[in-house]
Amino acid sequence: ALNIQAVAKRFGETDVLKRIDLDIRDGEFISLVGPSGCGKSTLLRIVAGLEQQTEGHILLDGRKVDAMRPRDRDLAMVFQSYALYPHLTVAENIAVPLTMRRMSTLQRSLIGKIVPSASERRREIAGEVAKVCDALSINALKDRKPAALSGGQRQRVALARAMVRKPSGFLMDEPLSNLDAKMRVQARSEIAALHRQLDSTFIYVTHDQAEAMTMSDRIAVMIGGELLQVDTPDQIYQMPQDLRVAEFIGSPK
Ligand code: ATP
Ligand code: MG
Repeated sequence: ALNIQAVAKRFGETDVLKRIDLDIRDGEFISLVGPSGCGKSTLLRIVAGLEQQTEGHILLDGRKVDAMRPRDRDLAMVFQSYALYPHLTVAENIAVPLTMRRMSTLQRSLIGKIVPSASERRREIAGEVAKVCDALSINALKDRKPAALSGGQRQRVALARAMVRKPSGFLMDEPLSNLDAKMRVQARSEIAALHRQLDSTFIYVTHDQAEAMTMSDRIAVMIGGELLQVDTPDQIYQMPQDLRVAEFIGSPK
């Protein structure tokens, strides 16, 4: 489980997050929605460890991870801007999280464990990269550089890179916002399939209410740094607990 406990964030004089409490079950798909500037990305970045909260704690499986580096948290973050390495090929980009893991294997060898040979490990990595490329239909792109890809293709590569480590959780900050309507619908069903397949926990930030409605187990509505309601899509739409939630959800896009 992932527990966000009384997390507050202050930038200078501004309370950007006001004591956020949120408990997320293993395997749950939860969408985080709210007006621009309400603090969605800040909350996600704190969970990822890219930003330090002013108060409160983040727990992963009961363990406080506040002092843990992002890459040790077993979470994969997918941003709106895909942040691929321009000088690496698609296959090399996807392999980056695995080659990082190789370093920690090396560290383990120092305390007496057996490590696979470098060539064996390379074969293993190539196999894992091939598997996720198959899953996202990007096999034909493996040797290209990011500059030679469309926005939608880049987004798939970013997803593949997030998947390859089989993290226990995905943090996605508007990962589809650069896609056209048709690609978006397709990518949406790919993410849903990914969720069913991996049984990982997802926190998914989106501006698209149809997306939140169709993909989520629960929707968390955040306004002005406060979490106002966390409920199933039906409950959110039919029984908003707060006028601000009703106004936000009911507002035409
Ligand atoms: P959007 O939907 O537009 O992406 P958001 O809900 O993700 O918005 P955040 O990016 O979390 O919003 O920002 C929340 C508030 O915190 C905003 O008012 C923003 O200006 C402010 N903020 C974010 N980062 C910083 C920073 N490093 N220093 C000062 N203020 C910041
Ligand atoms: Mg944001």
